[in-house]
Amino acid sequence: MSDAVKPRLVRCPQCGGDSVYAPTNKWRPFCSERCRQIDLGAWASESFRVAATPPQDPDELDPDQPPRVH
Ligand SMILES: [Zn+2]
Repeated sequence: MSDAVKPRLVRCPQCGGDSVYAPTNKWRPFCSERCRQIDLGAWASESFRVAATPPQDPDELDPDQPPRVH
């Protein structure tokens, strides 16, 4: 079987294009450095937004209200 020799193609999570999933592609599973950095940037800004959210002050919670379940 030659399947093991063929480079495996996966879909780039960033651009949706073909990405070679092999040691030769150091940006895998992304197709390129650009896509990888875009994705990392999005992830970083996402976590920054979460981290930037001020923690809820328990003193501001109304003890008469049950915890709100989303
Ligand atoms: Zn890509």
